[in-house]
Amino acid sequence: MNYYDFVMNIAHNLYIHVPFCMSKCNYCAFYSFACKNPDWQKYADDICKELKFWSEKIGKVKVPTIFFGGGTPSLMPVDVFECIMNCINQNFLVDESCEITLESNPGTLDNEKLSGFIANGVNRLSVGVQSLKDDELKFLGRKHDAKTAINLLNIAKGMGLRVSGDFIYGLPNQNVKDVIDLCNDINKLELSHVSMYELTIEENTPFGKMNLNMPDNDTMAQMYDAIPEHLLLPRYEVSNYAKLGEECRHNLNVWNGDAYIGIGRGAAGRVYYDNVWYEQRGNGELFEKITNETRSIEKILTGMRTMRGVKLSDDVKNVINFDWINSHKDLVEIDGEYLHTCHNGLLILDDIISDLIK
Ligand code: SF4
Repeated sequence: MNYYDFVMNIAHNLYIHVPFCMSKCNYCAFYSFACKNPDWQKYADDICKELKFWSEKIGKVKVPTIFFGGGTPSLMPVDVFECIMNCINQNFLVDESCEITLESNPGTLDNEKLSGFIANGVNRLSVGVQSLKDDELKFLGRKHDAKTAINLLNIAKGMGLRVSGDFIYGLPNQNVKDVIDLCNDINKLELSHVSMYELTIEENTPFGKMNLNMPDNDTMAQMYDAIPEHLLLPRYEVSNYAKLGEECRHNLNVWNGDAYIGIGRGAAGRVYYDNVWYEQRGNGELFEKITNETRSIEKILTGMRTMRGVKLSDDVKNVINFDWINSHKDLVEIDGEYLHTCHNGLLILDDIISDLIK
């Protein structure tokens, strides 16, 4: 790589997908497999092959964030993680302040293993807590109990990591008070970042085959509204809440429309190469030009999910329907150079987005 290559190429965030899980949860439609003894060496070799492929294609670009998502990345042995991190460091310019997130499940990490991940660069841990009630965890098909999850959160905080907890609400027969209680219990954990996902029933999952008595739409909407009223963290995206400055930088960059490379089967990305944007998957398995119009629409789709909104840059202005915005000021609002969704709009975000685009 010469200096010219370096200045021509923009920074790319990295998303590395780890598809293995201890078992499959009852609601999960993600690309992941229950696998007790994965062939980790083969996994690491495949990931490194992909990393080298992209580095050769787009250059030794800067990397501001790395996100190991899954699946259950915390199942990975530390030496496998180390091997992947070495490969990243050899092939890319990892920022000194790079945010390196590891998604984890309680029961897969002890102090020693977590120290190993930290020694190899992890500085942010996302923990799949999902519920603080053991009967709900069992119903969801989770393999851990609440105590194990709380222990892991405390250990990780004690080790100086930025820690996030994932939770699910809107379980069958849950009411608004249950969600308020959940928020109050989460507050006691003193987390700086929380993700709150509504339970959605997907086909081809165990829940999809059961006739579950789900809360109706009005109740779900009331639950959604109750969360920011009771959680002590501000909402910064449809499902994400964080102290100011503690937002997930990786996701913010991706939602912002920045470049990222998806590594691993099941991962996709958006790379910038030779002055053109491409949609990407695998080792060149998918490498398709994205038109300026598609890219602007993508920015709107992801930007409108954030409380800040989408920046009204010239390309975005070209595809946005200003007549619709002017006649729906109860749903969307222009604030300086950003367009964002108002409270009423958040509940019908998918409908708004299709109307917003010309
Ligand atoms: S741990 Fe996560 S990815 Fe794995 S089966 Fe459960 S929900 Fe799906």
